[in-house]
Amino acid sequence: MAGLNHKAAEGIRRALKLGSIEQDVPMARFTSFRAGGAAEYLVTPGNEEELLEALAIIAGFGVPFFVLGNGTNLLVRDGGFEGFIIHIGKNFSDISVEGETLRAGAGALLSEAAGAALGASLGGLEFAAGIPGSVGGAVSMNAGAFGGEIKDVLAGAELAFAGGAAGPCISEAGNGAMGFSYRRCALCEAGGIVIGAAMKLRRTERAGIEAAMRDYAQRRAEKQPLSMPSAGSFFKRPEGSYAGRLISDAGLKGLSVGGAQVSELHAGFIVNRGGATAADICRLMEMVQKAVYERFGAVLEPEVKIIGKV
Ligand SMILES: Cc1cc2nc3c(=O)[nH]c(=O)nc-3n(C[C@H](O)[C@H](O)[C@H](O)COP(=O)(O)OP(=O)(O)OC[C@H]3O[C@@H](n4cnc5c(N)ncnc54)[C@H](O)[C@@H]3O)c2cc1C
Repeated sequence: MAGLNHKAAEGIRRALKLGSIEQDVPMARFTSFRAGGAAEYLVTPGNEEELLEALAIIAGFGVPFFVLGNGTNLLVRDGGFEGFIIHIGKNFSDISVEGETLRAGAGALLSEAAGAALGASLGGLEFAAGIPGSVGGAVSMNAGAFGGEIKDVLAGAELAFAGGAAGPCISEAGNGAMGFSYRRCALCEAGGIVIGAAMKLRRTERAGIEAAMRDYAQRRAEKQPLSMPSAGSFFKRPEGSYAGRLISDAGLKGLSVGGAQVSELHAGFIVNRGGATAADICRLMEMVQKAVYERFGAVLEPEVKIIGKV
């Protein structure tokens, strides 16, 4: 596999003019956990064409790849990811507004998109202002907060697919084709790489948008450990309850393994209080899952995507 990866990397290196490919890149630099192993190759395409060329090479060699947005819902195990992590970042970050439609590149930050909506007096993205992901990551995760979710505002998305016989392609999908459910997008799970998204918003008085954003930001600042590295809520909300409440009621606040700790402020967050390894975080995750299951019979599934080798 290492040989194939190397050949694919050489091909990608030749294909990239604006973008870059780097080897052995510590993903702690690219994830909000500030922990974890390295990407064997980190590919940063300069534009759509370069993304498609890289995908064609990756598909041609049949080597593994994973898409990275802003790394705020991701943990790479300490042994690293063997293959190609494709970073959809700044090179895909244009934002424009036309009428009540906001278009954003997948690499734009969701907070930037929410800021542009505010600037254009368009309501609908207030819930998203404090979510630290990229637009692509938010679509892929159907990110949500304070009663709003991406699926409520997304008109459609442009996606790249590594492709089958015909090679990589770009296609557009409407909201209904995305297969959204709680923190899931079926089309992304099926290999769709979001390049851009169109959100259908509504004309709203600016003061109202601003007030809602301020209120949400204040509630986050009070309830979430924002000054410590984390990936937000570590677990999905189980049917009929809240992960944070179950973890807190099980007496697990403050529980720690190495540098990883169940936040004292919000038990749904696992924080890196300094020097945590991915193994610390995963061990703590398992301890929490076991304790909550034994105490309440509730199964906690991680919301955070965990990839790579132990
Ligand atoms: C302090 C904090 C608070 C948070 N609060 C919230 C919250 O209120 N609500 C919430 O829902 N989440 C929250 N999160 C989690 C996180 O911000 C969201 O899940 C966000 O949508 C992840 O986006 P990202 O770009 O960082 O994705 P990444 O972490 O880079 O990736 C996450 C997943 O998305 C996929 N992905 C990324 N980009 C693309 C793309 N272009 N195309 C296809 N797939 C892609 C990845 O492959 C991976 O499976 C919080 C995180 C932190 C650290």
